Amino acid sequence: MNSLEKKQLLGLDLNQMEEYLLCLEEPRFRGRQVYKWIYQKECSSFYEMSDLPRSLRKKLDEKARVSIPRVLKQRVGKDGSRKFLMELDDKKKIECVLLPQSRDRKSSYTLCLSTQVGCPIACNFCATGQSGFQRNLKAFEIIGQYLGSKKELNKRLKSSQAELISNIVYMGMGEPLLNYDEVIRSVHMLNDPRGINLGQRRITISTSGEAAGIKKLAQENIQLTLAISLHACDNTLRDQLIPLNRKYPLEVLFPAVEDYIAITGRRVTFEYLLLDEVNMSRNDAHKMIKLLKPLLANVNLIPYNEIEGLPFKKPETAKIWQFYQWLQDGGLNVSIREERGSDINAACGQLRSDYRR
Ligand code: SAH
Ligand code: SF4
Repeated sequence: MNSLEKKQLLGLDLNQMEEYLLCLEEPRFRGRQVYKWIYQKECSSFYEMSDLPRSLRKKLDEKARVSIPRVLKQRVGKDGSRKFLMELDDKKKIECVLLPQSRDRKSSYTLCLSTQVGCPIACNFCATGQSGFQRNLKAFEIIGQYLGSKKELNKRLKSSQAELISNIVYMGMGEPLLNYDEVIRSVHMLNDPRGINLGQRRITISTSGEAAGIKKLAQENIQLTLAISLHACDNTLRDQLIPLNRKYPLEVLFPAVEDYIAITGRRVTFEYLLLDEVNMSRNDAHKMIKLLKPLLANVNLIPYNEIEGLPFKKPETAKIWQFYQWLQDGGLNVSIREERGSDINAACGQLRSDYRR
């Protein structure tokens, strides 16, 4: 049997895994064992599943597969961040990034996951947006990024450190809410206490403003953090930066966010890119205060990571602090995102599928 014709076990939930083992005329508990091997031990070779009988290992190897994406390249930054280039079954390539939570290398990591190959929104400041859109990722390919990165960490670090991917952010390539069903499936798989067991509150989904997806998400009863990429507080500028704003302008997006807050009771984060000479005037600060003050919200300022070939510039530090101060004086709960991974092009907005660096 050609390996791609084999049954893909990555992406099955516990129930589906048990059903599959029952189909192979094996007892249900074998499903639980395989499930643990895959999701808790990042194991993709049936022969290594040492508590299964040899005959079952052989049978599984003949009929099934676990396609954790292959890591083609790995770059390690000065601050300990790691960027992985991974290859999917159809040879398409994606990037995901591990970011240490502090400069102390022993700290735990935040993993930044991709949800699409490329991105259809095509924001004019973002490297991913320049590479066009190829396809949505399946839940197993999203989870595969977690398992693939964890496997690499295990190889390279002592086991006491290797355990620690403590937070997940859906902020890699793509617009997560345009791949809604598979993203939500992947969240449930990350969260499953019998598998990966990562708390919902440790998961953040970032969206460029897909209002229809925000409405659906409000109904899911998942305790994750929603982050909205705002970047401009009037439609004229936002239309230019994020083309999706023409479909969901601020007067459509904001009621959806307000409903989300009312339904979930959760604090939302607004991400605001700092683009020199574009969106950082005193007037921009006033507009933001007016728009966000009434909401239960955090504001996270992201100094722009410059992309070769794109016209946008990162502002000087003094300008960043000035803008921060205006917002703080206006009563917003604001923070500045610490830059990580920029020396290996692993920072926000720097991921691509056409890997040439
Ligand atoms: N598509 C989603 C999630 C991925 S992008 C979204 O847009 O929200 C994650 C964050 O990185 C977004 O806030 C995005 O606007 C920001 N970003 C994109 N390009 C960037 C760049 N060059 N420098 C800094 N942040 C960038
Ligand atoms: Fe897509 Fe987000 Fe990049 Fe915009 S910023 S092109 S929505 S990945």
